[in-house]
Amino acid sequence: MADPKGFLTHRERENRPSRPVPVRIQDWKEVHGEQDTKVLQRQAGRCMDCGIPFCHTGCPLGNLIPEWNDHTRRANFADAIERLHATNNFPEFTGRLCPAPCETACVLGINQPPVTIKQIEVSIIDRAFSNGRVTPQEPEWLSGRTVAVVGSGPAGLAAAQQLGRAGHTVVVHERSDAVGGLLRYGIPEFKMEKSVLDRRLVQLRGEGIRFVTGMTVGGDGPDDLSLADLRERFDAVVLATGSTVPRMLDVPGADLDGVHAAMDYLVPANREALGSERGIDAEGKDVVIIGGGDTGADCLGTAHRHGARSVTQLEILPTPPADRPASQPWPTYPMLYKVSEAHEEGGERAYGVSTVEVLGQDGRVSGLRLADARFVDGRVELVPGTEREIPAQLVLLAMGFVGPDETAAPADVVPRTTRNTYERDASFATPLEGVFAAGDCGRGQSLIVWAIAEGRAAAAAVDRYLTGTTTLPAPVRPTDRPLTV
Ligand SMILES: Cc1cc2nc3c(=O)[nH]c(=O)nc-3n(C[C@H](O)[C@H](O)[C@H](O)COP(=O)(O)OP(=O)(O)OC[C@H]3O[C@@H](n4cnc5c(N)ncnc54)[C@H](O)[C@@H]3O)c2cc1C
Ligand code: SF4
Repeated sequence: MADPKGFLTHRERENRPSRPVPVRIQDWKEVHGEQDTKVLQRQAGRCMDCGIPFCHTGCPLGNLIPEWNDHTRRANFADAIERLHATNNFPEFTGRLCPAPCETACVLGINQPPVTIKQIEVSIIDRAFSNGRVTPQEPEWLSGRTVAVVGSGPAGLAAAQQLGRAGHTVVVHERSDAVGGLLRYGIPEFKMEKSVLDRRLVQLRGEGIRFVTGMTVGGDGPDDLSLADLRERFDAVVLATGSTVPRMLDVPGADLDGVHAAMDYLVPANREALGSERGIDAEGKDVVIIGGGDTGADCLGTAHRHGARSVTQLEILPTPPADRPASQPWPTYPMLYKVSEAHEEGGERAYGVSTVEVLGQDGRVSGLRLADARFVDGRVELVPGTEREIPAQLVLLAMGFVGPDETAAPADVVPRTTRNTYERDASFATPLEGVFAAGDCGRGQSLIVWAIAEGRAAAAAVDRYLTGTTTLPAPVRPTDRPLTV
């Protein structure tokens, strides 16, 4: 039972403390610090334990938010983590990285700032790790069935953990040198330190999940296996290969030196944060990031840490509103002007602009020619007379991803949808017998919370395929979409 007056006595949100900008841009460590227990209890006490908790509808995992809010209010962290883990394998990832659609759906958000659900989530799981409450949950018996998971991002990890707990023997195949997908080398250390991922992997290994890294399924290395090999050796295969093909810029000069896909910049920067040599260097340069989303913001924070002279982020869409427009009412997830931690650290943002040409000198990028853009009948039109040039010695393309690459499952083996994702039915099964698909490779570029939810749901489908029945939860269907307008 919630505190009946909590939301009246504490009307304000108290956010997680963050390190000062001038300090944090000197290193790669996480921006946020730990929340004080008293503040956390106060914030959890603002939850009204609604009769219809709309926060549940906002969360693809169906997290039992009012239950763990109440345990947190009472500082009962042992029960809080039990309730949190009941629906989410990796709350330390979502608690740090999720855009929190639960908060925009929170009933309190109708006339007050919503409950600080995300920071309560991360505080519960971080305390659980500190207190030794995250231990391997080994299955009671083994089914004798085997499953190959391809890709070790959040979808692959969630599917592997669920299937392992159901008694199946699971091997995760990953082409990178380390496990984690975008959590490892995409998302920067300052948003989530890799040690947070590593401590969870200790649990998965303890549960019997095996990881093979440096193995490209469909690759031509001496140790690589093909999808056909996996089908022969395992009873089922889960493709969780992510959405890895970047959308590229199609204007004159886009092939000049110094123009890179965002991941070509972020991957080495993530390795640098762990002690490797610097890859693409932004130091002293005017950096322009094309694309106004999460990936662009990660490039922004990284460029500041590299000591860029200036950083400008361009977005073709018009400036979003600061507050909910009437067309995006509660409890939908509104498209608002977002100030992420990276934006707090500086840089310029320009909305409603399109790149007309990449300018160069001696084969290297020296600037961009831009023009204002407007949408007419769903098509982009350049506004006459608005062309101008800006300097740039490094241009990063963060315009999204257009589906899985061809390596693991070429389109003639696993058919693609019109969105270039793997075709699959209502039970996550591709047309290839015994082959399932979960996460961004099936849904298209999305979020960690959806990847975990899909991994859990696909695991339930695979368990049913292998045994004829399942008790594993299936929080989402392949066709489910976020609660947006
Ligand atoms: C830079 C960036 C920042 C982001 N920030 C956020 C954020 O803050 N919050 C959020 O919610 N979401 C964020 N996202 C989106 C989120 O990371 C993805 O939605 C999520 O990681 C998808 O999980 P996944 O498991 O489907 O795929 P991925 O995490 O992409 O993992 C796929 C894995 O499959 C492996 N693989 C692919 N092909 C093969 C093969 N042939 N053989 C073996 N292995 C293979 C890849 O190496 C990779 O490790 C971000 C995305 C990017 C690019
Ligand atoms: S909608 Fe908000 S106030 Fe209501 S139960 Fe969920 S978190 Fe608590």
